Formats: sequence, C-alpha cells, structure tokens
Amino acid sequence: MIAALEGEHVHVFPLRGRPFDLAELPSPYHAFAVRARFPIFPADDGAVRRTAHMMTVNACPYHCYYCSESASVAGRPIRFNHDPVRAVLDRVLEYVGYGAEAMFFDDSIFCGGNTKLMFDLCIALAEARVNHPANPWLEDTADWYRLEDLQWGAQLTVEYLTSLQSHEKALELLQTMRAAGCTYLYVGIESMSPVIMSKVHKNLHRADSPPGTTRCTWHCRWRRRPASAWAHPSCSVSRAKRAILWTRPSRA
Ligand code: SF4
Repeated sequence: MIAALEGEHVHVFPLRGRPFDLAELPSPYHAFAVRARFPIFPADDGAVRRTAHMMTVNACPYHCYYCSESASVAGRPIRFNHDPVRAVLDRVLEYVGYGAEAMFFDDSIFCGGNTKLMFDLCIALAEARVNHPANPWLEDTADWYRLEDLQWGAQLTVEYLTSLQSHEKALELLQTMRAAGCTYLYVGIESMSPVIMSKVHKNLHRADSPPGTTRCTWHCRWRRRPASAWAHPSCSVSRAKRAILWTRPSRA
C-alpha cells in the first residue's frame, strides 16, 4: 500500500501483487522456536503443552462488518493451493518435528470453510498418526510419539455448523476432527440479540443456531468453555443472560 500526503490529506493506493501460494512463503517456525503454551492443551502430568500456531489460509471468507479478519479487509485469501492436504500435513509434521505437542489452527474458519479439505486433512492426519509416513521432520520414537499424542484445536462458526451443513454432516465432521486429535473447538457467538445480528452482516439464519451448535458439540463429547461473553448496550438483560448461559463450561 502506498500512502501519499497532500496538505492535510492522505491518498492511499492499495496495490495488488501477483497471486501466490502460501507454500511459497517461508515456514514461520523455521526461524523461531515453538514457545507458546495454552492451558487448553493439558498434558497428562498437569503441564501445559508446547503449542504451535498453524494457518491454512490468511483471511475469513465471510464479511462481518466489524471484523478485521474478513476477506473484505485482508483482501484476496492466500491458501495452500497446490495439493493442500499434503502441504498442510507437511507443515504439521514440520512443527511437530520442531517440538510442538499441540497445535492451534488460527484460520478464522478451519480450512477457510472448505469442508472437503477439512475432511481430507483430518483423515490424512489420522492416518499419519498411525502409519508414520516418510518425511524429513520426524525421525526418532519421541518425534512419532508427539505426533500420535498431538492435540489440536480449530475455529468454526455457529452458522457453519448449523446452517451450512446438515446436522448429520456436522456431526460426521466433528467426529472426524476428533479422530484426528482435535480436542478444542472455538466458536464465537457474538450476540444473542437479533437486532444487533441483523446489522453486522453476520450470516446467521437460524434463531436457534447457538443451541444447535451446543447439540452438535455435546453429541461429540466436546469440552466447551467460555472465552468471553459481552453484550451491546442495546442487548436486553435476558438475551445477555442467554449468551452467558450458552457459553458456560460443558460437562464433558
Ligand atoms: S465469521 Fe468470524 S472471522 Fe469471519 S468475518 Fe465474521 S467475525 Fe470475522
């Protein structure tokens, strides 16, 4: 982006470079140690696992007005376009080779909402945990154990689970993710106020979407914890209470 000053005015000229594949960029952890530890990924001995961040796409395909991760702000989504399952799995193995014991997929929506990629990636990861494919990153028993024991998390949206998929498909996806080691699902519910939701360009269609997500995640025995619960001043007290109740920790 080029910004030019003219008196009190600033002229901004956004520039588009050539399209490129995410695999063309250097692996972020090639130069930096995996250091983060998030208590959402506990180890058996009570410690917190060393956690790597992973991205398969740099922007969200949705266009919520208030969000800086939207493709409207971030611009053209950059993904692993060429053989994405192999490319993402290779990055996962690389990060495990660097010592990652857990991984959080920071995609605004896991795999950019590409359902086929989600399924294919989870199946490939589950197979790799068992079959130990040849690769340049994992060599000894300790490396392979980290992969077999890897915990990971991802973000989905209420809309994705309850409106864009059938209930059966959503369950199948969650179970496939769980079989591949996913132990943590991050889902934002924003506001329970239809007045607010009607103004933020959030593509929610069903009034019962958050409870619908609850049913899915309980069905898969997923842990559910509140990250934060906030309400707009125009939210009624009862709607704010509903949001807080919905985000209460789950039993599983
Ligand atoms: S779905 Fe979530 S990440 Fe995507 S634009 Fe909306 S608020 Fe942002």
